[in-house]
Amino acid sequence: MVFRMRNTESIYRQMRFMVVYVAMGLAVIYFVEFIRTRYFPSATGSLIFESLAGMVFLTLSAPLISRAITQYKRHSQLVRQERSFLVENISFGIIQSDMDGSIVAVNTAVCELLGYTEAELLSRNINALLGEEIELFETLDVLPAQPSTARKDIDLATKNDEVIPVELVCTQYSSDDGKYYRSFILRDRRNELESQAIERRASLVFNSVTNPIMIASDNWEVAWCNEAALMMLGCSHDGVIGKRVMSLQRLKVSQTEREFIKNTVLKKGGWSGIVSVGEDLESSSPYRCTLTLIGGADNIIIANFDSIAELMEAKSELSNSRSIDDLTGLLNYKEFEFRINKDISTGVLSGGGRFPVIVFNIDSFRQFNVAYDREGGDCILNAFTAVLKECLPHDSYLSRLHSDTFSAYIPRQCSLSEVNGLVDKVKLRLTSPLNVDFGPVFITVSVGVDSVSQSNAPARRVISNAEYAVSTAKEVGRNLTRFYSSDISESANYFVKVSSELSVALKSRQLVAAYQAIVKASDFTLHSVEALVRWIHPVDGVRRPDDFIPIAEKAGLMPDLSRAVLDSVSADFASLSTKLDYGSISINFSPTVFVDSDFVDSFVAQVNRTYIPPQRLIVEITESTLMRDTRSSKMAIAKLREAGIGVVIDDFGTGYSSLSYLDKFNLDGIKVDKLMLQGVPQDAKKAEILKNIIATAKALNLYVVIEGVETAEQASFLRREGADYLQGYYFSQPVLLQDVDFDKGWELYRRPLLPSSRQDIR
Ligand code: C2E
Ligand code: CA
Ligand code: CA
Repeated sequence: MVFRMRNTESIYRQMRFMVVYVAMGLAVIYFVEFIRTRYFPSATGSLIFESLAGMVFLTLSAPLISRAITQYKRHSQLVRQERSFLVENISFGIIQSDMDGSIVAVNTAVCELLGYTEAELLSRNINALLGEEIELFETLDVLPAQPSTARKDIDLATKNDEVIPVELVCTQYSSDDGKYYRSFILRDRRNELESQAIERRASLVFNSVTNPIMIASDNWEVAWCNEAALMMLGCSHDGVIGKRVMSLQRLKVSQTEREFIKNTVLKKGGWSGIVSVGEDLESSSPYRCTLTLIGGADNIIIANFDSIAELMEAKSELSNSRSIDDLTGLLNYKEFEFRINKDISTGVLSGGGRFPVIVFNIDSFRQFNVAYDREGGDCILNAFTAVLKECLPHDSYLSRLHSDTFSAYIPRQCSLSEVNGLVDKVKLRLTSPLNVDFGPVFITVSVGVDSVSQSNAPARRVISNAEYAVSTAKEVGRNLTRFYSSDISESANYFVKVSSELSVALKSRQLVAAYQAIVKASDFTLHSVEALVRWIHPVDGVRRPDDFIPIAEKAGLMPDLSRAVLDSVSADFASLSTKLDYGSISINFSPTVFVDSDFVDSFVAQVNRTYIPPQRLIVEITESTLMRDTRSSKMAIAKLREAGIGVVIDDFGTGYSSLSYLDKFNLDGIKVDKLMLQGVPQDAKKAEILKNIIATAKALNLYVVIEGVETAEQASFLRREGADYLQGYYFSQPVLLQDVDFDKGWELYRRPLLPSSRQDIR
C-alpha cells in the first residue's frame, strides 16, 4: 500500500540540485563568454567557439545530470520505503483518504484496532466511519498552503460494534502528486484511560485516608500528596509538588536530623520516628513519620504521617492517672515516694535539713466500713482528705498510701513543735464531726512521724518508719502520736530477728513445756500442773515466754506455738502421770488462737490423737480474750467443753469484767491473778476484795485458783478464806520434766530452796 505523501525532503533536494546546476551553467557561460570576447572577437569565430563550447558542455554535463536524476529517484524510493515501513509498524492506526473521504491507504494497526481487513477499509468512506466526528475536518483549512492539523478524543465503533476511545489527529496536506489528502492517526486510549481510572481511584483512596501521605522521587522531590498532607502542611498543591520533602516549611527537622534520616532511608530502606509539624515549635503537633523506600525501575519514597497528638495526650493522662489515687485524688504511694526521692536527688536536703513525713491511720476504720458499707467508708475517706487539705500547709504533698492510711510530706525544715502543731490541728478538727451525708461521724487517727534527711534516704524507708510508728501508737491505744526513733527501730529489728529465729525454733522442737505445781489449798498436796512454754535457745539458754510470746502473737506464730506445747505435753504425759499423783494439766491459750474456730477444731483433733484423756486437760484463757469477741469465745468454750476439756479464766482481776458477767460463759473455774495477791494479807483492802471474789465464785459454782502464792502466810490466809487451789513459788517453780526429781516431789522447787543452777528456769 502506498501512502501519498507530501515529500518535502525530495523537493528540497530537487531545488538544491537545480540551483547547483544553474550556478554551474552560469559559471560556464561566463567563462565561455570571457574566452570568446578575448580570443574570438569576430562574429564567425564567436559562433564557431560558442557552438563548440555548447557541445563540450552538453557532452560533459549529460552523465552528471543523468547520475543526479538516478540518485534522486533512488533516494525518493528509499524514503518512501522507509516511511511505509514506519507506517506499517507504528502502533498508531493510520488511514489516508482523499478529499472526498475515499480511503486510499490504511496501515495494519488501524485494521487491528477497528477489526476490519485492509480491503474492507479501502472500500469504505472515512466520513461513514467517523460519523459525526467528521466535523473535525471543518476546522481545517480547505486547501492550506501548509498542512493543517486538528486533534480530538473520540469514541469510535469497531466492526464488532465495540466502542473504543481513540485520540484522532487529522492532517490535511498536498502530496507529491499534487493532490490533496487527509491522514487520520488513531491512537487507542483504552490503556491510558484505564491507568487514568486507576490513578483516579488511587487518589480517591489516598485522599479519603486521614493520614497525610506524600510520594517523592528518590531525590526527595514531592511528586504527589493527598489532601490530608496539604492540610498538615498548610500549603496548596503547587506549594508542595516539586519541593524537597525535608525542606517543607512546616516540617521541623534540623539539618543533622535530615542527613541522618536520608542516610537511614538509603541504607535501611526506611525510617520511622517522631517529627513536629507546625508553624513554630510551640504550636506544632507530633506525628509519627514513616518513610519507605520502594525500589524498582525508579525508586520512590513514600512518606506516611500519623498524628500522635491524641496518643501523647492519652499517655500523659494515663501517667497522671497512674500517679493519682482514684478515690481521693491525692497522690498514690508510688508518686508520693517519687516526689520525696526527687527532693533527695535534687539535693534540696543536702544542707542537713530534715523534712517531716507524717502518716495518719484512721482508728477502727474497718468498723466504719461495716457500719456504713463500703460507699459510706469511701465518703469518710474523702471527708478526711478534705480535713488534711484544710489543716496542712498548702505546699505539702498529700497521699493516700493505702486503704485508711494517709501521709503528708512537708517539703521544708520543721521543728518538732511545728510538726506537733500540725498533727494537733488535724486532731482538733476531728473533734468536730466529719462532713458526710449520712449524719455526724467522728473519727480519730493514730499518727506516726519520721523525717527525710539526706542520710536516711530513700523515701520508702522513711514512709515505712512513719507507718511503723503508727503501728506502735496503735498498740497502746487510739488517737495517739508516735515519733519514729532509734528505739522503735531497735524494737523493729529485734522483732524481725526473734520472729525469724522463732520460726526455726518451732520446726526444730526448741519449744517445750515447763510444769508448775498447783496444790490443793486444804492440804497443799499436788492437785494439777500448769504447762508453761520455754524456749531452749541454742545460744541464750532457756528463754521465758514474756520475751517471745508478744512477738509470736504479732508474727502470727501462736497457732504453731500452741501446737508445739501440746506436742511437748503429750510427749511428757506418760512419765508425768505414772510418777506423780495429780489431776489435770492446764494449757494456756492466747487470745488470737482462742477466737479462731479453725484452731479450736484442730486443737481438739490434736488432743484426740494423743494419749491424754481430754478430761485431764484444762484450757486457760484471759478474761480480756473473752471480752474481745464474746460470740466466738462462747462457741470456743462450747466446743472445748463438749470435747471434755475444762476451761478456766486466767489472770482474773486484771480486766474490767465482773464475775456475774463471766457466769454467762459456762466456765469451770477462775484463776485469780497474782497482782491481786500482792501485799495480802497485810493489805486489808486487797484481802477484802480477794475474800469477796472467792465467795462470789463459790456462789456461782466456779472453783477458785489463786496464783502467785509466795509466802506461807499467804497460803494459810487463802486456805482460811476458802480458795480451792493455790499456785506459786511458795510451792514450786515451773520446772522442765528432765529436771523433776520425782522421788523428792515438788517441794524441791520451792523458791527458797532453788539451786542457783536452776534460777533461769523459774
Ligand atoms: P500465766 O498464765 O499467768 O502464768 C503464770 C506465770 O506466773 C508464769 O510465768 C509463772 O512462772 C509465774 N509465776 C508462778 N508463780 C509465781 C509466783 O509465785 N510469783 C510470781 N511473781 N510469778 C509466778 P511464765 O511462765 O513466765 O509465763 C508468763 C505468761 O506467759 C503466762 O502467764 C502466760 O500468759 C504466758 N504463757 C506461758 N506459757 C504459755 C503457753 O504455752 N501458751 C500461751 N498462749 N501463753 C503462755
Ligand atoms: Ca496461765
Ligand atoms: Ca495468770
